[in-house]
Amino acid sequence: MSQVQTIALIAHDGKKDALVEFVRINQVWFERFALVGTGTTSGRLATLGVSIERLSSGPLGGDAQIAARITEGAIHAVIFFRDPMGKHPHEPDINMLLRQCDVHNIPLATNVATASLLIDSRAFKI
Ligand code: PGA
Repeated sequence: MSQVQTIALIAHDGKKDALVEFVRINQVWFERFALVGTGTTSGRLATLGVSIERLSSGPLGGDAQIAARITEGAIHAVIFFRDPMGKHPHEPDINMLLRQCDVHNIPLATNVATASLLIDSRAFKI
């Protein structure tokens, strides 16, 4: 595929360290893509030196923005490290994002194990 694909990155607070570490370890792979993320997650990832478009913070609509972009065909994979132990005020937005991934058949990795499979996937080799 010649067009640069876009990957959305999101992590709940309890999983932000894990996502930053995951991106750090796999930074060369991530640099091949356009990256977009929710506000606080993007801010954390930017400290690694990766280029990432920063949307609103999740509770302020960032997840909804990513969901909208999925409907427009502008996002090709989502890595969303959810905290299964936390309660989130924007649960409806989160569910909408997960649903839109399924509606549009967008790969969605919600933990390190699945994100590792995504990185190894034939579909995302350039
Ligand atoms: P944040 O949003 O990156 O702004 O923390 C993530 C979320 O809570 O969905």
